[in-house]
Amino acid sequence: MIPFLDLKKMNQPYEAAFQEKVTAFFEKGWYILGDEVAAFEKQFAAYCGTTHCIGVGNGLDALVLILKGYITLGKLQKGDEVIVPANTYIATILAILQSDLVPVMVEPTEDTFNIDTSLIPKKITPKTKAILTVHLYGQCSDMDEIITIAKAHNLLVIEDAAQAHGAVFQDKRVGSLGNAAAFSFYPGKNLGALGDGGAITTNDDDLAEVLFSLRNYGSRVKYKNDYIGFNSRLDELQAAFLNLKLPNLDKDNQLRRDIASRYLAEIKNKEVRLPKWDFSNNHVFHLFVIRIKRRDDLQKKLFGNGIQTVIHYPIPPHQQNALKEWNHLSLPITEKIHDEVLSLPISPVLTTEEVDTIIRILNSFL
Ligand SMILES: *Cc1c(COP(=O)(O)O)cnc(C)c1O
Repeated sequence: MIPFLDLKKMNQPYEAAFQEKVTAFFEKGWYILGDEVAAFEKQFAAYCGTTHCIGVGNGLDALVLILKGYITLGKLQKGDEVIVPANTYIATILAILQSDLVPVMVEPTEDTFNIDTSLIPKKITPKTKAILTVHLYGQCSDMDEIITIAKAHNLLVIEDAAQAHGAVFQDKRVGSLGNAAAFSFYPGKNLGALGDGGAITTNDDDLAEVLFSLRNYGSRVKYKNDYIGFNSRLDELQAAFLNLKLPNLDKDNQLRRDIASRYLAEIKNKEVRLPKWDFSNNHVFHLFVIRIKRRDDLQKKLFGNGIQTVIHYPIPPHQQNALKEWNHLSLPITEKIHDEVLSLPISPVLTTEEVDTIIRILNSFL
């Protein structure tokens, strides 16, 4: 069986070094917000090219905390509208709702799966205060266009970078392209921990100051609380693991791109629509997503030949039971994409032979 994602194989090379860190951890006896979190924050801010990184509990919290941070600073208010792609993982939209803001969903382009920036201006009203874009599947959104629109209308730009650690847009890293960015270190992400974890990157000193406090009960000095805060801190042991993994992120992303290049060159099935990519480093292939009308038949055929695939995602956010108020929306491109997408295995530990097999079975699907 070729698993969709072999996390055991991906994490195994770090096991011995991590065991040493665990031993040191027991000796130190400092459990919350210690040296490992501080070191990771420093290392990840430098990697992304931002002045600040704030380690938090998970990716959803990272998004919520950015929005709550801007509410705390008076830059966003309850009821403000936030432009967001309709074609995303539901977390992006949940974060907006949990911050008492209003999501305004915009259709994607069929080539990139990312927000169609040409549709954004029509959605802007006097209540619009931010664009929360998603670098879906690891590919950068069209940040030139997003920043131009944001500047013209005085909007905040927030990146949901949960799928795009390390992607580069015109020499700048994801995480440094807008006012603030949210990352997830859920085990399956390009930079994955051994459990939940997340971070925010920003160059905004005021926002960073508020966030260091909000993630820790609204407090920077013990038992002195300045805000109605949260308990959402990056865990010390998860940070220790991430400190071991981060130095290999660029190499791992290149291995993903190498596999993507092979898929793009060698999958030759007329029914399969391949993703568009300009072969720059703007894509880190968190997922390699193809489209095909007979999606379920292809998934069965691949599975029958020992190849595990996943659908990201089967139901769009606006059609979920959780979002009843949005169920009436008609978003035909988003809906069609959800009916046709299939994610092939892609990861730094997928072997050449496994890629050969996947391509061969796909090309023999009639
Ligand atoms: C994974 C993910 C999140 C949420 O991250 P968690 O760490 O699971 O909370 C948010 N947005 C996108 C696009 C994601 O893929």
